[in-house]
Amino acid sequence: MGSAAEVSDSVLFMSVDKKLDNKVITPVAREVDQERAERAIRELLEAIGEDPSRDGLLDTPARVARMWTEVLSGTNNDPDHHLSKTFDIEHDEMVLVRDIPFDSMCEHHMLPFTGTAHIAYLPGTTGRFTGLSKLARLVEGYSRRLQVQERLTSQIADAMQNMLDPVGVLVVVEAEHTCMSLRGVRKPGTKTVTTAARGIYRTDAQSRAEVMAFIQGR
Ligand SMILES: [Zn+2]
Repeated sequence: MGSAAEVSDSVLFMSVDKKLDNKVITPVAREVDQERAERAIRELLEAIGEDPSRDGLLDTPARVARMWTEVLSGTNNDPDHHLSKTFDIEHDEMVLVRDIPFDSMCEHHMLPFTGTAHIAYLPGTTGRFTGLSKLARLVEGYSRRLQVQERLTSQIADAMQNMLDPVGVLVVVEAEHTCMSLRGVRKPGTKTVTTAARGIYRTDAQSRAEVMAFIQGR
């Protein structure tokens, strides 16, 4: 997990200047306004009838402000660059990476949703592969920001499609939303499943069904 916030109150956000054959990564420092975030948390504590000066809450605004910096560390970060390093291997069959864990923040309630992502892709004749850990970085980059699960799923699929140019990509995300278990319908244990298919997995139902069987076969 991102630990930058433990070191410093500001985080270095990376923005990527994408060029086709010469990828330039330009780090852009963006100050997170900790003081303002702390003021807002203090204000919220008062709004819910708490006393921010009582002992247990004294450090809460600063702590919460730092936490937000950390959980949103992917906000201005283009994680696609994790896929810019590719390699060729003698393999033209489907690759599936299952159960990549992630934590994200629902942008409607600012509450966490957590789960796993599964990424399958079929490299083309010009097929490019990426390292397995890069897929985890990709998922992390798109999840550490205010998100909705549907967008998270399609952003991962689009990044795979754009960066690796495969014959097909299928992304399945399963998550539990605390905004559904803590409040509203209050159904703990309910999982929301979203999928995004590109290329052959979008156009060919049988290929898609085969990959889905792999993903669900556990
Ligand atoms: Zn929500």
